[in-house]
Amino acid sequence: MQIEHIPQSSTPAPAAELSPQQRAFVYGYMEHGNAAAAYRQAFGVTHSYARVDACKLLKVPRVAAAVADLRRIAAEALNTSVAELALQAHEVATASVHDLQPIEVYACRVCHSADGRHPAWIDADEYADACEAWAASQDSPKPLKKPSAAGGFNHDVFAAPNPSCRACRGHGVPVMRTLPTSELSPGARALYEGATVAPDGTLRVMVADRAKWADMRNKLLGLYVVKTESKSVSVSMSAEEAARIAARPVDEIVKLLFRPKDATP
Ligand SMILES: [Zn+2]
Repeated sequence: MQIEHIPQSSTPAPAAELSPQQRAFVYGYMEHGNAAAAYRQAFGVTHSYARVDACKLLKVPRVAAAVADLRRIAAEALNTSVAELALQAHEVATASVHDLQPIEVYACRVCHSADGRHPAWIDADEYADACEAWAASQDSPKPLKKPSAAGGFNHDVFAAPNPSCRACRGHGVPVMRTLPTSELSPGARALYEGATVAPDGTLRVMVADRAKWADMRNKLLGLYVVKTESKSVSVSMSAEEAARIAARPVDEIVKLLFRPKDATP
């Protein structure tokens, strides 16, 4: 059998000059890291000394160069995932809680009441309930104040505050709203970490700790000087550069690397 992978010169050749078997070997080796298995697969052999041949093949300059190139690509892909994580962390760190739980201000009970002095009731039923509670409290140590109907029965809980209201002076009543999760903006969605219902039925929304996410983003971008700095992580990546790398598919780089010599780029 002719051993086609023995080097003819010691000058490393471009990866594009690899034979189909050599390419298959390099890809197999990169995929599972087992040189002997990659050799057997690529060259269609089953002999026991494939390991020795595989070792020889790995020392062939053009093969060694191709392996080094693919390792570099793998390292770049790692950087890409770091950049993507950093961008995600940045999204949470800079998201606005207002988008998740806006605080809105509505009219107080006096804002639009009939006499402008007494609180308005939502309707007659609410007033009747208050009268019942008042009557029942008369024999208790702390009797309630008699409800008045002077404010009328038109209180709209979502009405705008009245600037000339004598009770709130137009400041109204702040109400924290919890939006349906299906209506959340991307920023609010990033902040939302689930919800729990308290025994009294109150909904408690868990909001991501933005400081923690900002810290994670800074660590991912290498903004802190750490003693155990990893060389595989790009430590001075701008958001723009991160986005550029994240947008480049690794497949494309691999194709570029193994482009035939005479093909146009
Ligand atoms: Zn008011």
